[in-house]
Amino acid sequence: MSDWRALTGHEIAGMVRRREASCEEVVSETLEWLRTAESSIRAFITVLDHSALELARETDRRLAGGAEPGPLTGVPVALKDNLSTQGVETTAGSKILKGYVPPYTATAVQRLLDAGAIPIGKTNMDEFAMGSSTENSGFFPTCNPWDLQRVPGGSSGGSAAAVSAGQAPVALGSDTGGSIRQPASFCGIVGLKPTYGRVSRYGLLAYASSFDQIGPLTRDVRDAALLLGVIAGPDPLDSTCADRPVPDYLASLRTDAKGLRIGVPTELFGQGVQPEVAQAVQEALTTLEQAGAILKDVSLPTTRYTLPVYYILAPAEASSNLARYDGVEYGHRSAAARDIIGMYMATRDEGFGPEVKQRIMIGTYALSSGYYDAYYLKAQKVRTLLRREFDQAFAECDILASPTSPTPAFRIGEKTSDPMEMKLADVLTLPTNVVGIPAISIPCGQVDGLPVGLQLMARAFQEETLLRCAYTFEQATDYHKQRPRIAS
Ligand code: GLN
Repeated sequence: MSDWRALTGHEIAGMVRRREASCEEVVSETLEWLRTAESSIRAFITVLDHSALELARETDRRLAGGAEPGPLTGVPVALKDNLSTQGVETTAGSKILKGYVPPYTATAVQRLLDAGAIPIGKTNMDEFAMGSSTENSGFFPTCNPWDLQRVPGGSSGGSAAAVSAGQAPVALGSDTGGSIRQPASFCGIVGLKPTYGRVSRYGLLAYASSFDQIGPLTRDVRDAALLLGVIAGPDPLDSTCADRPVPDYLASLRTDAKGLRIGVPTELFGQGVQPEVAQAVQEALTTLEQAGAILKDVSLPTTRYTLPVYYILAPAEASSNLARYDGVEYGHRSAAARDIIGMYMATRDEGFGPEVKQRIMIGTYALSSGYYDAYYLKAQKVRTLLRREFDQAFAECDILASPTSPTPAFRIGEKTSDPMEMKLADVLTLPTNVVGIPAISIPCGQVDGLPVGLQLMARAFQEETLLRCAYTFEQATDYHKQRPRIAS
C-alpha cells in the first residue's frame, strides 16, 4: 500500500493514469487520514466526504468506459473557503456568511474539476483573508502540523496545514499580501502567488481586488507548475484576467538555474529578520550559486513604505467590497432589529469579527472626503514609485530573493494582542502584491525544528523563471521531503 500522506498530486495522477489506484481508493484513503488528523490540526471548515467519494466513483466509471484521464484525474484537492463552490457552503471564515451557498463555482475551481481533480473540503482561513495566522477565523484557529502550539500562518492557514499534514496532496489558497507564501513557509511546503491577472478571480470572495490572486499550495515545485498550468489563463468572467496564452509551466522545469541573475535586496534581510532565518536563506542562495546562478546585491529603498501603503489601500478596497454583506442577499441576517437600517447594523455587528470591523473603519476613513488625498491618493503614488523601483531592479536581475517571513511560525496567541506585531510579519511578502509580480515560497531549511521559506520573485508573467529557479533548488536539496510527525 502506498503512503497516501506523502504522495504528491503528480504522483497520484500518474498512479490513476496507470490504473495502479482507483480514484475511489485515493479519495477514501485520503479522507480517512484527513479525519484522523483533524482532531489535532483543524484545517477544514467543511469536509466533503460524500460528494468527493461520489465524484471519485463516477470518475472511475468514466475511466473504465474508456475516458481519457485529465492532468489531475483522481487528485484530491483542498479549497480555501473563500473560493465559491456551487452547492457547497462558502464562508470566507466569517460568521456573516454562515449558511451561504453560492449558486456558481469559481473559475479556478472549475478548471481543477475539468482537469479531473476531486475537491475534498473547504479550508479554514482568517476572516475574509485578513490576517497572518488563521487566528482571525470566525470559527476556530488551525494548528501548525510541525508544532500544535504554533500557528500555521495565514490567511490560507487551513490549506497550508492540510497539505503539510498529509490531509490533501494539493490545495488552493489566495494571496493578497502573502496569504499563500507565508503559511507555505510556516508549514514547510511550496506556495505560489501568480502575477496579478494570471489567474481569474471570478468566484473568489473579494478582499482587496487590485491585490488578490488565487494560487496553489503543494508539496513540491512540480505540483505548483502543474496546478498553475491548469488554473491560469484568460476568463471572460474576469476583466482583470490577462488575455495571454498559458505557457507550458512543466516544460520550464527542464532548464536549470544556470546563468540566472538573482538580486538580493539588502532591505529584505534587514530589521526584524531573525538572524537564523537570514542565515538559512543565505545558505540557500549559495546552493543556487553553486548551481550556476549569479548573485547580485540590489537595493529597494521604497520597500520601507510598503506596509503603510498596503494597510491603506487594502482596507480601502475591503471597505467597499464588504459593503455587500448587509443581511439582505448573503448568509447571516440579524433577528434583533425592527427596521431595515437597524437590520443592516445589527447584522454587520453580529457577523463581522474585530479585525474586519477595524479594517472597514480604516478603509472608510482613508476614502472619505478630506482624507482621500492625504491617504488613499498618496498611497497610490507610492505604489507607482515602488513599481518603478522593481522595474529597475529587474533590468539587471531575473529573480529577486529574500526570506518569505522574518521568523518561523509563532505561537498561537503570541501576536494577537499586538496588531502591529502581526502586520510586521507580512513585511517581506507585501511588496509583490503591491507591485503585482509573481512570487514563490519554497522550504529551504529549519530553525529550532520549524520550517523556513525562501521567497523568489520575478517579473510580471515570468512564472516560468520562478519555477525553473525553485525546481533547481529543490533538486539540489531535500527540504521538501521533510514532513512533520503527527500522531495518528
Ligand atoms: N496578512 C495580510 C493581511 O492581513 C495579507 C493577507 C492576505 O494575503 N490575504 O492583509
